[in-house]
Amino acid sequence: MSINISSYQSILQQLKDKATLVAVSKTKPIEDIEVLYNLGQHDFGENYVQELVDKEANLPKDIRWHFIGHLQSNKVKYIAPFVHLIHGVDSLNLLKEINKQALKNNRIIHCLLQVHIADEATKFGFDANELNQLTGIEELKNIQIVGLMGMASFSDDLQKVRNEFKHLKNIFHHLQIPNHNLTILSMGMSGDYQIALEEGSNLLRIGSLLFGARN
Ligand SMILES: *Cc1c(COP(=O)(O)O)cnc(C)c1O
Repeated sequence: MSINISSYQSILQQLKDKATLVAVSKTKPIEDIEVLYNLGQHDFGENYVQELVDKEANLPKDIRWHFIGHLQSNKVKYIAPFVHLIHGVDSLNLLKEINKQALKNNRIIHCLLQVHIADEATKFGFDANELNQLTGIEELKNIQIVGLMGMASFSDDLQKVRNEFKHLKNIFHHLQIPNHNLTILSMGMSGDYQIALEEGSNLLRIGSLLFGARN
């Protein structure tokens, strides 16, 4: 176990009440999650559906589970009964499927739209034009789009990272979706969370700084 409790406490200090911390526990064992849970951490993030389903079944029910990975439509049904927030929604089809599964579970599921801000081709998400052209969301009564999520380039060029966050913040401020209230801006990971906070993030997704490096 390599939980870094002092870095957990130092991150919380920096957040104060400006932002929510989601502890990204992907690939880490249940015992590690319990350590942070017992310190009061209740928001955890996972990337893989099966892993999330297994962990949810074996951990306290008041954990708020964030799905932060790339979600395939055919797997939405497994997390729909309990997921707290789905971060990486990147297509209208996926929104429709989440809406359908939320309805089956008699829930309203909160979602973040993922925006492509990095220059890497591998990162998923909408670009600004696609967001402005999204239509048909108003009919989806069992989802609420509550904000945006983005990942900056994996780069040593801090100004570039900062500019990508600025770009996302700018989209966040201007985007309007009828019947949806966008209040959450999910940006910042272990390597860039301080810049993200300076640029207006109010939700950080931090893994390795808390749980140690992943294999
Ligand atoms: C893994 C992951 C994180 C956490 O990454 P760290 O660098 O370990 O903090 C945050 N967001 C997403 C989408 C991830 O996949």
